[in-house]
Amino acid sequence: MADRRADARYRPARAALRWYDGHRRDFPWRAAPGAVADPYHVWLAEMMLQQTTTAAAKPYFEKFVSRWPSVLALAAAERGVILEAWAGLGYYRRAHHLHQCATVIARDYGGVFPKSEEALRQLPGVGAYSAAAIAAIAFGERAAAIDANIERVLSRLYRFRGSRAELLAIAREVLPRVRVGDYTQALMDIGSGICRFRSPLCLACPFVRRCLARAAGDQDSLPVRVGRKSRRRLYGAAFVMVRGDGAIFLRRREDRGLLGGMMEVPMSAWRGDAGFDFLGDAPIEADWVLLGGIRHSFTHIDLGLGVYVAGVSGDLSGLMGERDARWVALDCLGGEALPSLVRKVLAVLGDSPKRGVWGAKPPAKKGGSGGIPPKRVGGWEKSFRAASVATRGVASKRKRPTHAPPERQELL
Ligand code: SF4
Repeated sequence: MADRRADARYRPARAALRWYDGHRRDFPWRAAPGAVADPYHVWLAEMMLQQTTTAAAKPYFEKFVSRWPSVLALAAAERGVILEAWAGLGYYRRAHHLHQCATVIARDYGGVFPKSEEALRQLPGVGAYSAAAIAAIAFGERAAAIDANIERVLSRLYRFRGSRAELLAIAREVLPRVRVGDYTQALMDIGSGICRFRSPLCLACPFVRRCLARAAGDQDSLPVRVGRKSRRRLYGAAFVMVRGDGAIFLRRREDRGLLGGMMEVPMSAWRGDAGFDFLGDAPIEADWVLLGGIRHSFTHIDLGLGVYVAGVSGDLSGLMGERDARWVALDCLGGEALPSLVRKVLAVLGDSPKRGVWGAKPPAKKGGSGGIPPKRVGGWEKSFRAASVATRGVASKRKRPTHAPPERQELL
C-alpha cells in the first residue's frame, strides 16, 4: 500500500517527462536528448534568463559562447568588455556577478563547476533557484528549482495556496528519481508555454487529468501572492550634453548599486519627491531644454526621468574628472556599455524610440554650440510636449523649469 502511494507521488513527473520527450523546446544552451549538458552553458543561460525572456537571452548567449567558449575564457576577460557585451540585456548586476563567478570557478575550482546545490549557492550571483536549476540540469542532482513559471504550474497542479517555502517542500517530495534535469526543464516549458498566467492551455497540458485547480476551475486564482512588495516610485533627470561636433558626454557609474559599472549620461539623484528642483543637479551651467521624458521599471523601482538636453561648448575640461568620462560620437554609441535606461534617454533625441540615436542619422545642426535634433512625439509624450514647449529655446541656465516635469503626471 505504501509503495503504491509513493508511486502515485511520481505520476505527474512521469507525465511531464513523457510530454517533454515529444514537445521539448530547443535552445542553444540545452543539451540534445540523451546528451550530457555543459555546466558552463547551463550556468550562463540561467544567469541570463533571470528577469529576461528566452527570446531576448538567446542572441546574447550565442554571442557569449562564441566569444568566450569556456568559463576559464570568461574569467580571463576584462569586466568592462563583458559589460559591453551584456549591454541591452538589463539588470547589469548580473554581468558583474558573471565575471565574479567565473573568476571564482577558475581560481577555486580549477574551471570545473561544483555539482551540489549547496556549493553552487555559494557562488556570486547564484541564488537559490539558479543553484537548484544548475544542479538539476547540469548534474542530475535531485534539486527542486522554483521560479515564477514553475511556481504557477505546481501551485495549480496541487491547488496550493501556502508560502513558497511550503511549495518548495512539496516540489522536493515529488521530484523523480531519474532525469531530474529533463523534469525541471519540462516544468519550465509547461510554465512558460501552456500554464500561462492568464488563460492556461489546459487541454495541451500533460497534467490536465491530475490538476486540482483545473478540476476546481480556479486556475486563474493561483498562485497566491504572499507578501509581495510594491515598487517604489522615484523621479529624476537625465542631462544630455551635445558638443558642437555632435558627440555626447558619457561617464561610468560606480561599480556598486543599480546599473553598476555601466556608462550613462549624467543624471540627478533619484528621489521620491517629484517636485524636486532637478535642474539644480545639472552637471554644468548651460541652456538646458526639457526635451521629453521616459519611464523605466526595475525590479523594485518605477522610475520617471525628465530628459534635459543642452548644446555645449567652451572649456569642458572640468567634466573629464568624472569616472571614465568621454565624448562619444553618435555612430560609436552602439559600442558602449549602455543600459536600456540610458538608451531610452538617448532615444528621446531621435525621431522615434526605435531609431533614436541608434540610426545612422546624425542630429541636425542648428549652428551655435551643438544643436539638438528635431523630435516627433506621439502618445503619452504628446501631452507632455504640449506642456514643455514653453521652455524650448528659453535660456534657463539651471533655473527651475516653469512647468511640472513630465514624470509628475504622465510617466508613472
Ligand atoms: S492543467 Fe491547466 S492549470 Fe493545471 S497545470 Fe496544466 S495548464 Fe496549468
